[in-house]
Amino acid sequence: MLSLNNVKSRYGRIEALHGVSLEVDEGEVVAVIGANGAGKTTMMRSISGVQPTSDGTILFDGKPLDKVPAHKRINLGIAQVPEGRHIFGPLSVEDNLLIGGWSLTSTERADPSRLGWAYDTFPILKEKRHLPAGSLSGGQQQMLAIGRAMMVRPRLILLDEPSMGLSPLLVQQILDTLRELKKQGITILLVEQNANAALAFVDRAYVMETGNVIIEGTAKEISANPKVREAYLGL
Ligand code: ATP
Repeated sequence: MLSLNNVKSRYGRIEALHGVSLEVDEGEVVAVIGANGAGKTTMMRSISGVQPTSDGTILFDGKPLDKVPAHKRINLGIAQVPEGRHIFGPLSVEDNLLIGGWSLTSTERADPSRLGWAYDTFPILKEKRHLPAGSLSGGQQQMLAIGRAMMVRPRLILLDEPSMGLSPLLVQQILDTLRELKKQGITILLVEQNANAALAFVDRAYVMETGNVIIEGTAKEISANPKVREAYLGL
């Protein structure tokens, strides 16, 4: 479904991605793990189109994305849940969800099944739909950020650090939800510093270090890799 081939990206003179290649098949859940500054966010932003690439190709359904602007990538079925969630605190929970559908046509936006999908997946959001989003707990705000991405009925969700700042219990709750989305056939590419949480849940993973993919494999292989165990799992 998604294929990155030797993708490079730079901030001015600094090259942040030195030629990253990775694959995500339809229906898979794949993690990219790595320390601060490894280039994970830059890679996600390159896929969603908000960060330009300087070399290499990104294919979605076999077609190059290079000339497709970010807002059109959403319409192709790629939705991003950014690091830090970017919730609009003073707006209601429901308005935050509706913002997720800004790129839709007015008929699509008026379709109640879009909100319905987010509310069925996260009943707490329905319960709190009239409250300001800023009043939600961290875990609920992460659910809101995922629900907002669901408004475009994506086939691929790009999730940047969903566990950031959450207690272990809430991390489990978010992972349970992602499992449910996987069951529904949604493909997920997830960036995580919390390698323990990610590897317990994904099919495959890539490890990034300073702008390169250094290890790739099934979750089982990566969990057993001595370098990963020492550097990322604290074992
Ligand atoms: P984090 O977990 O902290 O988000 P990351 O693995 O996602 O880390 P990136 O944020 O992609 O890493 O950063 C990769 C490299 O690019 C780092 O060296 C970082 O300092 C640099 N970088 C990121 N954003 C910018 C920017 N706006 N301008 C200049 N350099 C940047």
